Amino acid sequence: MLIVSCNNSAKENKPTDIVSKVQADTAKFTAAMVDNKRDPSCGMPVAAGIEDTIHYKNKVLGFCSKECRDEFLKDPKKNITAADLKK
Ligand SMILES: [Zn+2]
Repeated sequence: MLIVSCNNSAKENKPTDIVSKVQADTAKFTAAMVDNKRDPSCGMPVAAGIEDTIHYKNKVLGFCSKECRDEFLKDPKKNITAADLKK
């Protein structure tokens, strides 16, 4: 009886913790929220993960990392051509 009650309490507590953590970590930005298909700095598809975003000329650009965002901001006019913007 003791073992059964232990298992029950573990099942009740764990799933809610995991769900809230996953949402906070991964659902920050999604590919659907940005106007570029590729990270213009490294060429990675934004669907693979977005760490940071910026607004540039009424577009929202997603980047896989803060480093890529900083790289873009050094020369946005040139780098925007590599962003593969959605039509
Ligand atoms: Zn990148």
